[in-house]
Amino acid sequence: MNLKRHYSEFLGFKLKAKQKGKKPNGEAKYVVTSHISDKASKRILTRANQTAKNMAHPKNDMMTYQIIGAYNAFVMGVHQYYGLATEVNKDFHRISFHVNRTLKASLKARLKRPQGQQLKCREILLYLMRNPVLNRSIEYNDNRISHYSGQLGKCAVTGRLMEVHEIHCHHKKPAASGGDDSYENLTLICADVHRLVHATKPETLQTLLANLHLTPYQLGRVNHLRQLCELAPIEC
Ligand SMILES: [Zn+2]
Repeated sequence: MNLKRHYSEFLGFKLKAKQKGKKPNGEAKYVVTSHISDKASKRILTRANQTAKNMAHPKNDMMTYQIIGAYNAFVMGVHQYYGLATEVNKDFHRISFHVNRTLKASLKARLKRPQGQQLKCREILLYLMRNPVLNRSIEYNDNRISHYSGQLGKCAVTGRLMEVHEIHCHHKKPAASGGDDSYENLTLICADVHRLVHATKPETLQTLLANLHLTPYQLGRVNHLRQLCELAPIEC
């Protein structure tokens, strides 16, 4: 193959001989320039775009970090491999232009999520971290925070977002019956649901039920929690 005229594709690189000045005897002097090959560029672009798209809908913070980590590792790997190519910066500039467009679209999609809500959950999480329940164990307080993130700030029964004063940490198996402060034995429910789980007086039950408007499914969850506390189920 005539390297002087064509790019020669090899392992994702394309090489081309370029004339650069003349030898003292008047002959043309050539240097070899190398680019990332078109095929490899396409491959990199596809993967980078896919990773950028993945950033749009991470399930949680942990996943966000994993995706960003994977993206950075991928970019670093590609840079290291193609760092050998002489014209590689121009090639990457071209690729990054396309990826950045995808990235921007992804981040825009994220911004469309209710920002205020997210901010509020973060503030509440910080509040819970800074204000542990003093007469409880470290395990209890850690799990209270873990559950708050795990439940995305929502009541485990109603699925509604809880205000900071509404967050109640309930022992599924009561401490009095030997229930511990493990993650599995705790759950976060809103104050009224918590009262309902432990209520025994008919008038209390009635008032709470009237306020909460539970669906049959939600009532089923309340009754499951009552059963674990050895309380009779609420009939409707
Ligand atoms: Zn409780």
